[in-house]
Amino acid sequence: MAHHVLVLNATYEPLNVTSIWRACSLVLAEKAEVLEAHPERVIRSPSATLPHPVVIRLRSFVRVPRFQTRRLTRRALFARDGYRCQYCGHTSHLTVDHVVPRSRGGTSVWENIVTACGPCNLRKADRLPAEANMHPRKTPHAPPAELFFTLSTPTIPASWETYLSYLR
Ligand SMILES: [Zn+2]
Repeated sequence: MAHHVLVLNATYEPLNVTSIWRACSLVLAEKAEVLEAHPERVIRSPSATLPHPVVIRLRSFVRVPRFQTRRLTRRALFARDGYRCQYCGHTSHLTVDHVVPRSRGGTSVWENIVTACGPCNLRKADRLPAEANMHPRKTPHAPPAELFFTLSTPTIPASWETYLSYLR
């Protein structure tokens, strides 16, 4: 199923994943070119027949702040932490835990957020790791950029691999 299209910057750096319809409108408006197309399918519009895009490249460079490309979401957080509580290793009732609690000045950044099960989150409450004697198993960091691309589609088309390797 190639309904997700990988969008590259003019520099070939992967930017995001978009829908087939958004990709086609970018191509029709000549804002993007098709780099990889589905071998068997085409897209027909009243006025044109287009290759079915799998990877497109923007014709002009867009500057995207890093925080936008690595946006913190529950889904990305749980994936980063392997869907495990970072205190006890449980895999159910997952919640978002601020290592330094918000009430103690902790912010919602990748370096201060871990996956915690409900019971651990409740037990830690608004204490610092040292006070609660609860330390995350791994020091939290922003996940590799590739994670955001793999999360945005059920399967990674083979033709994306070359471009995603730019992120490593
Ligand atoms: Zn736990």
